[in-house]
Amino acid sequence: MPLRLYNTLTQRVEPFEPIRPGQATLYTCGPTIWNYAHIGNFRTFLFEDLLRRWLIASGFKVFQIMNLTDVDDRIIREASAKGVAIGDFTAPYAEAFQQDRKWLRIQDAEEYPRATGFIAPMIELVQGLLAKGIAYKGEDGSVYFAIARFPAYGKLSQLDKRQLKTGASGRVSSDEYDKENAQDFVLWKAAKPEDEAVAAAWDAPFGRGRPGWHLECSAMALALLKQHGAGDVLDIHAGGVDLIFPHHEDEIAQSCAFTGQTYFARYWLHGEFLNIRGTKMSKRFGNITTPRDLREDGVDPGAVRLLVFQAHYRQKMDLTDESLAMARESARRLGEFDERFREASKAVGADSWNEWANTLERRVAEAMDDDLNAPRAIAAVFDAAREGNRLLDQREASGAGALDAWNKIMGVFDPLPGTAATVRIGAGDARDGDPETAASLSADPPAEADQATEWARAWASVRLAAKKQKNFAEADRIRAMLKQHGFEIRDAKDGSIEVRRV
Ligand SMILES: [Zn+2]
Repeated sequence: MPLRLYNTLTQRVEPFEPIRPGQATLYTCGPTIWNYAHIGNFRTFLFEDLLRRWLIASGFKVFQIMNLTDVDDRIIREASAKGVAIGDFTAPYAEAFQQDRKWLRIQDAEEYPRATGFIAPMIELVQGLLAKGIAYKGEDGSVYFAIARFPAYGKLSQLDKRQLKTGASGRVSSDEYDKENAQDFVLWKAAKPEDEAVAAAWDAPFGRGRPGWHLECSAMALALLKQHGAGDVLDIHAGGVDLIFPHHEDEIAQSCAFTGQTYFARYWLHGEFLNIRGTKMSKRFGNITTPRDLREDGVDPGAVRLLVFQAHYRQKMDLTDESLAMARESARRLGEFDERFREASKAVGADSWNEWANTLERRVAEAMDDDLNAPRAIAAVFDAAREGNRLLDQREASGAGALDAWNKIMGVFDPLPGTAATVRIGAGDARDGDPETAASLSADPPAEADQATEWARAWASVRLAAKKQKNFAEADRIRAMLKQHGFEIRDAKDGSIEVRRV
């Protein structure tokens, strides 16, 4: 069965068929960097990470764009209060977002455009819409999108159906339609003195000003698709459910009116909210939790990932101290099995392990292909760990094939606790330490957690070889370099070494 995804646009689960076979373009609305992104935002980013990883595991080449909104009303208000330019105000939050994202092991997107870096394509988009008569300039000098001139407006958010329900006659004139549910929205806001004061205004043929939030995503997506040679229609657009209306509706209107295409994205995927202790997270309730709060509390990122993926992305989920504690315990059990399994793996394994691997891979694929049913897939992972422990108790040797299957699935969910990134290298195991391997290793680790661990392991082997050759200066240099990237090397009495992510 091919991958099937729930498409908000059609309200159905549909087979995923990308425009270009084997490739998937993905746009995910990123954070507005006016503050630290909270764990509710990150639940959406984790769902998108899972989507990305499953697409890759399914053989698609992914081109993902995640924007950083670095100019909007809130940013201008906060920057004004501090008396700094918006660029200075947002810089630390942009960096914090990337740190938090990496802590949660969310893979790098191919592009992280900032709105202020794409003003020219935004102006071009507004000009195109003005030329087509779909946008107009208001008395206030701002440019608006006339939704009445875009017949498909409201399709994503089922605006027409909602309107039909409330309309007395069951038939609604466009005036009522506008008034009841939607309004012409701003594309370009005329510059005000407070915008100028924080360097949030740009010259444009239709008047000095700044982009509206909705416009930013359309312009960045279209500009980067073009740059990537991928046309002007996305395969998948994802975000939180709160963005369906008006943000995504407006993105569709602007983009399609500009390109003349029926679709801005073929598939629209939306992740549900995360509640904290049963309350929707908001500043009002004082229950904002950011990844940095969790990190300071000593929470393991693997446990957070496991907890988030144990709820289907289209279901609301609660984050409580109890649910986090349970996830930590579950992640620990998986980590324990992972270590035990790794140690017991040989080049050739018993048939029972081949069957074990086939069952695991089949069950995970069936679940994930069914609209990313991660809770069901993770249940299969725990069944496999239980069965695997039983086989290990019986001293059944597992083979490299079974380990590969396990590694591939761990690479999709990435749920193991930090300490499970420990790798042991035996005293006689310095095979990677030859000069050729050493020369081919980069000084910086790859961004992906599992690859970074592999990178650290390879360097540790090089260090082991250096020690054997009594090149202690080189051994010390490698230890320091690994430490700088968060890996600790410990020498055991038996001559083996341990590499641990700290
Ligand atoms: Zn967006």
